[in-house]
Amino acid sequence: MCGIVGYIGNRNSLPIIIDGLKHLEYRGYDSAGVSIINSDKKIYSFKKAGKVSIMDDAIDKDFYTGSIGIGHTRWATHGVPNDINAHPHFDMYDNIVIVHNGIIENYKYIKTRLIEEKYTFITDTDTEVLANLINYYFRKTKNFEKAVRMALIEVEGTYGIACLCAEEPDKIIVARKGSPLMLGIGNGETIVSSDASAIINHTKNVVYLEDGDMAVLTKQGFFLKSVEDKDIFRNTEVLDFLIDEIEKGGFDHFMLKEICDQPETIQNTYRGRINFETGVVKLGGLEHVMDKLINAKRFIITACGTAWHAGLVAEYMIEQFCGIPVEVEYASEFRYRRPIIRTDDVMISISQSGETADTLAAIREAKKFGATTIGVVNVIGSTIAREVDAGTYIHAGPEIGVASTKAFTSQLMSLALITLMIAGEKKTLPDKTLIEIAQELKNIPEKIKHMIDMREEYKKVAEVFKDTKNFLYLGRGYNFPVALEGALKLKEISYIHAEGYPAAEMKHGPIALIDEYMPVVFIAPKDRTYEKIISNIEEVKARKGRIIVVASDDDEQISSYADHILRVPTTLPIFAPILNVIPLQFLSYYIAAARGCNVDQPRNLAKSVTVE
Ligand code: GLU
Repeated sequence: MCGIVGYIGNRNSLPIIIDGLKHLEYRGYDSAGVSIINSDKKIYSFKKAGKVSIMDDAIDKDFYTGSIGIGHTRWATHGVPNDINAHPHFDMYDNIVIVHNGIIENYKYIKTRLIEEKYTFITDTDTEVLANLINYYFRKTKNFEKAVRMALIEVEGTYGIACLCAEEPDKIIVARKGSPLMLGIGNGETIVSSDASAIINHTKNVVYLEDGDMAVLTKQGFFLKSVEDKDIFRNTEVLDFLIDEIEKGGFDHFMLKEICDQPETIQNTYRGRINFETGVVKLGGLEHVMDKLINAKRFIITACGTAWHAGLVAEYMIEQFCGIPVEVEYASEFRYRRPIIRTDDVMISISQSGETADTLAAIREAKKFGATTIGVVNVIGSTIAREVDAGTYIHAGPEIGVASTKAFTSQLMSLALITLMIAGEKKTLPDKTLIEIAQELKNIPEKIKHMIDMREEYKKVAEVFKDTKNFLYLGRGYNFPVALEGALKLKEISYIHAEGYPAAEMKHGPIALIDEYMPVVFIAPKDRTYEKIISNIEEVKARKGRIIVVASDDDEQISSYADHILRVPTTLPIFAPILNVIPLQFLSYYIAAARGCNVDQPRNLAKSVTVE
């Protein structure tokens, strides 16, 4: 995730680019930068860590006055957010400069090759490798367009790019694969942007680029070709949105947008990390501690809130597939006990922001006793990411809604990858099972998309329960943490009291709460706990509770028990929490929205809890 803006025309480009970047900041905000071609036809760059306003305050506006330029607001995926890793990135000869959204998966391979050709690098980014690769081909062809084309053909991964060339200073070249990019067609000017929010103040006429498209922009206009040099045609469309709607992608709230982004964010989590044919998982950030992982006597998982629920799921995964004991701890409790930590323990700490104070304190405690510490974090270069011995980023992109949704499913996916990697190395799973899991993993984005397409069904159920005062969520096995997460989502944004329990625990207390007003959500996939859950449903039915069931698409029997059904696609148990939580995210979202709650910023809550 990041935001890209470029301008070519007759006006001063800098204010247009900076204004555009400010609108794109919801896509990333850890550093910002611009490259402008001034009237002397030379490229000048300025970039800074922090939000766009920091760069805006610091840049000398009297100097950067050219009418061609590109800009970027970053959400780091490779290399910590600092001045050097901020975009735009030059190649080592300062000929090509590029802004990039996405991940170049084979950047290490390309970098090694370029180093053999005597190229040198000054940043930790994948993007700088692409700038150098383009320049490598420019030196062979002396043609900017051909060079971009040849480089992109070699690249694996995702990109939306805009680039300038010092030796051809009259154009911007843009291209996309997997990251959004569009052109705004003005009067004698063209603006390129990741979305319409940076364009709409200047023109309403736009061309949406599609994957594999490339465009060359000059002051005379632009032409489109595919990266493979084939002719293509795209219609010009007229925008009729408000800026606020564009930033939220047309959704009413960021939370809803983030729920609906999950087919893509989940893919970003596993992209380039698993071989679907062999089931082999490679997580670069964990390779150097692989010995510690496979020889661990125990895993201790520490986290808070939603991330703690992800940790509970990981307990089931790791114990089942790797045969290593796991303890899951609230970070806040762990640090104030006298925990027994040994040098052959591995602590996995999960935090979206990477700044959660209690989780950080637990990590420091574990390090004092010589345990190996692993981070599962979203924000690159965050304190937890820097302090752990090793880690993996979940690559969910910036999460704006305070109630975590896409980060949760990406945490689950990352933890599944860690589990499969360890199981593969330790040989605790037959190859056949690993392959079967890998094959199913590939289907997860499509299955999530199916649920997003049927969200109106979930909304109907939400409307029935919008005035309820209490809710109970029940699940077993892998789906017990999902029950906890469903209840937490509802509490957080709708202020309805909700509790999650292991379904069998109900009869040890919560059953006393059941009457004709009490909605009970059962998570009842067709796995080995199914019959038991059905018995629990019967128990609630006998006491006239209102029964909502998260049930598999192919479960016909369930309609005779449930008052309302939230249908989910079937999958393997390891991935069931990823799918089963989605209707619960929708349920809480639609209930909160129907109650008129401030969904994105619920009262009393903060996105990252950096205090104890
Ligand atoms: N992979 C690039 C980086 O880490 C681009 C990330 C983005 O999309 O902002 O700099």
